[in-house]
Amino acid sequence: MTTYQNFINGKWITSKSGKSVQNINPGNIDDVIGNIPLATRAEARLAVESAAEAFRSWRSTPAPTRGRIVGKAARLFEDNKEELAQILTREEGKTIAEARGELQRSINVAEFCAGEARRLTGETIPSELPLNFAYTIKQPLGVVACVTPWNFPVAIPVWKIAPALVAGNTVVFKPATITPGTAVRITEIFQEAGIPAGVLNLIIGSGSEAGDEIINHLAVKAISFTGSNGVGIRLYEQASRRGAKVQCEMGGKNPVVILEDADMDLAVESIAQGAFGSSGQRCTATSRAVVVNDVADEFVDRIAKRAKSMRLGAGSDPNTEMGPSVDESQFNTVLKYIDVGREDGATLVCGGSRATSNGLDKGYFVHPTVFDHVTPDMRIAREEIFGPVLSVLRVRDFEHAMEVANDCEYGLSSSIFTNDAARIFRFVDEIETGMTHINSPTTGGEAHIPFGGTKGTGIGDREQGSTALDFYTELKVVYVDYTGRKREGNLY
Ligand code: NDP
Repeated sequence: MTTYQNFINGKWITSKSGKSVQNINPGNIDDVIGNIPLATRAEARLAVESAAEAFRSWRSTPAPTRGRIVGKAARLFEDNKEELAQILTREEGKTIAEARGELQRSINVAEFCAGEARRLTGETIPSELPLNFAYTIKQPLGVVACVTPWNFPVAIPVWKIAPALVAGNTVVFKPATITPGTAVRITEIFQEAGIPAGVLNLIIGSGSEAGDEIINHLAVKAISFTGSNGVGIRLYEQASRRGAKVQCEMGGKNPVVILEDADMDLAVESIAQGAFGSSGQRCTATSRAVVVNDVADEFVDRIAKRAKSMRLGAGSDPNTEMGPSVDESQFNTVLKYIDVGREDGATLVCGGSRATSNGLDKGYFVHPTVFDHVTPDMRIAREEIFGPVLSVLRVRDFEHAMEVANDCEYGLSSSIFTNDAARIFRFVDEIETGMTHINSPTTGGEAHIPFGGTKGTGIGDREQGSTALDFYTELKVVYVDYTGRKREGNLY
């Protein structure tokens, strides 16, 4: 059985902590994958100190050289794609097709960031004074903490670590404790690609101890976090008190609007994919279907049929369409929300329970669940469930749909199904989410396109794409005077 180690200052180190937990396959809890010693606060401090020490030489390494190393990592991710996808499926539970997709996204992100290293440019700006000009340069921040969740345990770390390194920062990577296998392989790949000692450090340990130590360390100049709102907001409060930069990507409660002229085949298939894909454990998962009354009966009937036909099973089985919840705690959360939906008076159309047939009782499987007649005040319409649960909210018309879709604390993703161009453009104007999709699922994104949300979902700069490096760099403005004389204008 594997025992996971920390990576500090270029060395793999077994934690001296007496505390450990097990890495368990959520599709079959008899399959114990490894032992996870939980890093101590002292080990977390050591990782930050190593990163601080390594910063001096890494920041002065030319950006294209840094980019070349990240580019090599992209090729190594490609070479090891299948092995990593298998590790991911076994410890997180998503289907092997989803795992391969996540790996491809990670490769794309690393390739994109490697290219950005040659575009780490500033501006030259004409001065209002003669024989003067100004320019800007982008500089790294220092030690950056990348705190990541379990639901995309390869892609999210890569889309934080790759731009952080390209920009010249050193990194302490704190993955979710329950997905250590992927975190170790990611770190090994960057090591093999040639990242110098101390530039990337990995700490596997509980959020409330090792994580807390990292984010509160004075040498940590910036924190990029993805996870729950509770942790994200607390971390933001703590770090902003000392002036550290923070980027948080948190929950979603993503609506899809279905109008009377929607292509219903397309809508049902896309919404099944968005709501039940990755067992609903995506921040961009479709969790609210806002449907106009005229087509609501048809939609509910057809989405329920599709939900019932989903093939549940181990992620490693290529026929599986939906895997398990990631662990017992997440599984219990999903079942709790199903109870809450019932108690609040929503109509349970299908699912609503644990799946146990054909060996599914060995894992944390929940039947894809659809609730109808959900009202905007119900908790299942407002709170992130992170499970295969779709709430259908019936509305009168487009105006009512917009009101209901926007009546939400979160603002990550959204989608609309209609062929009416005018209403598509009104939807794009009025929907309060950072990303939106037309006639396609609320999920999905591309490596070279910015990613992130508004309202209660996001704090700080967008990740990925043209904005990926904004968070990881500081802008310096330089004034150049080549008159050789005392300044005579611009005295303000
Ligand atoms: P958390 O927010 O608890 O965890 C995310 C990361 O933060 C993990 O690495 C975690 O470590 C770490 N962490 C936790 N507490 C601290 C702390 N005090 N200081 C520093 N780091 C900390 O999310 P969970 O994984 O527990 O998931 C809970 C819920 O969050 C889900 O049900 C879902 O609703 C939401 N979520 C949203 C995601 C999104 O992409 N929007 C992604 C994942 C979850 P550790 O694993 O050791 O606790």
